[in-house]
Amino acid sequence: MDTDTAHSIPADEAIAVLATNATAGLGAEEVARRRKEYGWNELRAARRVPLWRRIAAQFADALVVLLVAAAVVSAAVWYVERESSAPFEALAILTIVILNSMLSLYQEGRAEEALAALRAMSAPEVTLTRDGKLIRVPSREVVPGDVMLVAEGDAVAADARLIETAGLHTLEAALTGESLPVEKSTEPVRTEARLGDRHSMLFSGTAVSTGHGRAVVTATGMRTELGKIAGMLEETETQLTPLQKDLDRTGKQLGLVVLAIAAVVTATLLALEGIQNVHQVVDVLLFGVALAVAAAPEGLAAVVTVVLSMGVTRMAGRGAIVRKLPAVETLGAATVIASDKTGTLTKNEMTVRAVVTAGQSEEERRLLLTAAALANNAELADGKKHGDPTETALLVAAAEAGLSAGALRAEYRRVGEAPFTSERKRMSTVHEGPGGRVLYLKGAPGSVIPLCTRYGAAPLTGERRAAVLQEVETLAGQALRTLAVAMGDGDKEENLTLLGLVGLIDPPRQEAAAAVATARAAGLRPIMITGDHPATAKAIAREVGIAEAPRVMTGADLDRLEHTDVDVFARVNPEHKLRIVQALQQQGAIVAMTGDGVNDAPALKAADIGVAMGITGTDVSKEAADLVLTDDNFATIVAAVEEGRAVFDNIRKFLRYLLSSNIGEVLTIFFGVVLEGPLGLNVGAGFVLPLLATQILWINLVTDGAPALALGADPASPGLMRRPPRKREEGVINARMSYGIGIIGAVMAAGTLWVMDASMPGGFVEGAGTLAYGRTMAFTTLVLFQILNAFNCRSDERSVFSGLGENRWLLAAAGLSVAAQIAVVYVPLLQTAFQTVPLSAADWLRAATVASSVVAVSEAMKWALRAGLVRVS
Ligand code: ADP
Ligand code: MG
Repeated sequence: MDTDTAHSIPADEAIAVLATNATAGLGAEEVARRRKEYGWNELRAARRVPLWRRIAAQFADALVVLLVAAAVVSAAVWYVERESSAPFEALAILTIVILNSMLSLYQEGRAEEALAALRAMSAPEVTLTRDGKLIRVPSREVVPGDVMLVAEGDAVAADARLIETAGLHTLEAALTGESLPVEKSTEPVRTEARLGDRHSMLFSGTAVSTGHGRAVVTATGMRTELGKIAGMLEETETQLTPLQKDLDRTGKQLGLVVLAIAAVVTATLLALEGIQNVHQVVDVLLFGVALAVAAAPEGLAAVVTVVLSMGVTRMAGRGAIVRKLPAVETLGAATVIASDKTGTLTKNEMTVRAVVTAGQSEEERRLLLTAAALANNAELADGKKHGDPTETALLVAAAEAGLSAGALRAEYRRVGEAPFTSERKRMSTVHEGPGGRVLYLKGAPGSVIPLCTRYGAAPLTGERRAAVLQEVETLAGQALRTLAVAMGDGDKEENLTLLGLVGLIDPPRQEAAAAVATARAAGLRPIMITGDHPATAKAIAREVGIAEAPRVMTGADLDRLEHTDVDVFARVNPEHKLRIVQALQQQGAIVAMTGDGVNDAPALKAADIGVAMGITGTDVSKEAADLVLTDDNFATIVAAVEEGRAVFDNIRKFLRYLLSSNIGEVLTIFFGVVLEGPLGLNVGAGFVLPLLATQILWINLVTDGAPALALGADPASPGLMRRPPRKREEGVINARMSYGIGIIGAVMAAGTLWVMDASMPGGFVEGAGTLAYGRTMAFTTLVLFQILNAFNCRSDERSVFSGLGENRWLLAAAGLSVAAQIAVVYVPLLQTAFQTVPLSAADWLRAATVASSVVAVSEAMKWALRAGLVRVS
């Protein structure tokens, strides 16, 4: 079929060309046939990065390159000297490097999968007519000839020829660069019209800004105008979050310091020690590399990614879908939740509670409900409600009065509509009825009453106007959402007759009050934003506990007043929302703001965390948001904040662990070399390394990894939501952490060197073992130190013994690491590779006893903090 000219032929011709039916749409069989012919409605996805390139990327890491080079040198020396039956050292290093790369590949894969699953969850949908029924399907299922319904806020899923429009405007900047909304109609345009002038068409990749319409799909997937331009979806670079950047920077800085230390130590060794042969030179160089690997917190950003993606998965489980990874961190620092009222704090289940008319007669009431049912786009079909809850509530009230919307709509044919927008806060329709042309209008009283000149049968005088406004206040004061209904006899919204007022109740969500209380306890300020009447908003705010005496401000007052301490913003329109975000941010707040409409997009983008509604939200708002709520629930935002805090906490836990371990290793080696004489480590000739390069690598890449990851999966600490929010300017590693890490590292080094000294002749403590034995003891002690310290790192205040067994992953990881250490001490092949000797039960006991000192020291520090003896934040 030729659809390239669909814009230039009349709508019914286009329908014929596309061999479809404007009212019933396509049938299931035809859809299947067309799917086969035209494929899925999607842009060809970028090819995945092939495995070999991802593996290669692992080896692009400077330290890995160093390690591989070290292994090659070691192998070369072995080849020349042939001192052992195989190049054990080289093999051990290579094995460790490969294991480590495999682990990071796996982790990257997991993180990627989690993110891909999330993308699928927030995939857009479209409304179609098929087989005579309205259905919602994922956008990729659309085929040419489908009859598509679009409304305000929808992302257009395919190119389509319009067959019906009502105030339809689209945003086409993404396609044509046009920044203003484009008005659409069903009239054909010139064949050669440019894309931007084809007003009879809808284009994939654009969005509906106002109004609604119906269209038949002319092209899908790569055949759409967007598909032609896009060619192929570019591979999207995964962006680092601020935290990852911070850690990357810290990691690089620490890495440089460590490289410098390693270089100095290596040079000193080479210069001062009696180096006798090339083998020792290689030993020293290898040792330098190992030291650098040991201490450089290189892979931090990678572990952070894993922890962040675990957080993302947990949030999804609680109904919050993260669209942008940095949001996970920012959530933990949020100080304000600025939330919509309707649907988020309330149920959005409206029921008409009060109808007020001039004379309170039955006839007036019926006229008002007739108007409310006609100026209405909702539908009641076999007991089911379709459309806006405010409007379905009106249909229900009309039906209860014996007025069927279907019958009314047949009698009064609709010939025009001025749609509802959050700025106008009203909508009107024009009808051709038995008595001629008539306009029905409904909307917020503040927006409708000024247009009215009569109320009921009499003029709307100043006195009566005041009485009506008083009535509005009364309804609103009862937490009712208020609407005014009017009619006119032309097709303009002017010179209207006010028919009366409607009060609708929308009860608060059950969980809202508890969630608001949790938020407040956690130092988060909940703020309510609504288009409703201030008195309605205030009553609901009090009910859900936003404040005992909520301070209310209306959108129009934003300019004039200082609004630092406002709890409720009422009569707000989307443009006010942006200003509210900016004002709050200027005061230093970190703002999570909700939104659902097209026009909320700027505010959602400006907010630190833009939160869109999964159910009622428009595609446009979802695309602008960082977070999408699958249940539109305020409580879910609070849950997401809790998860965000937990993630940040866990990142600190494993940083504490990894950094104190690294410092412990560096100090052990540094002082082991410097104090070699006094400690009596230099048995025999030449120099002695307290730990071998391979042993350091073992600690870092084998026994360290599992506990670090397990800490990343630690359950949230109990007090998490009773703490104030983290300060944004506070880095991930704060002063308290730095001191703790330093002290713990020093304890580890002192204990390890003491054990080594005590295992060998000479030094401060007498011992009788060989160098290999001394090293095996030191090696084992250091590993045990770190395993025990992993449990300390779960909190900087709470005792290690409270909730000790909570984290099963950590128990398993500790077990695994102990098993690995037992293996390296007893398995003959590993003994050769790592130059260890078997230890006795008494040896293990001694190592474990010394290692447990780290728990005692940590407990003492935590106790001092809890008792307020020291104050470090
Ligand atoms: P919110 O989403 O905060 O409840 P809205 O912008 O939806 O605020 O509504 C603001 C006001 O506009 C409502 O109080 C009501 O008076 C009016 N209104 C809401 N929905 C409609 C509608 N479908 N038609 C006409 N007026 C409406
Ligand atoms: Mg609304």
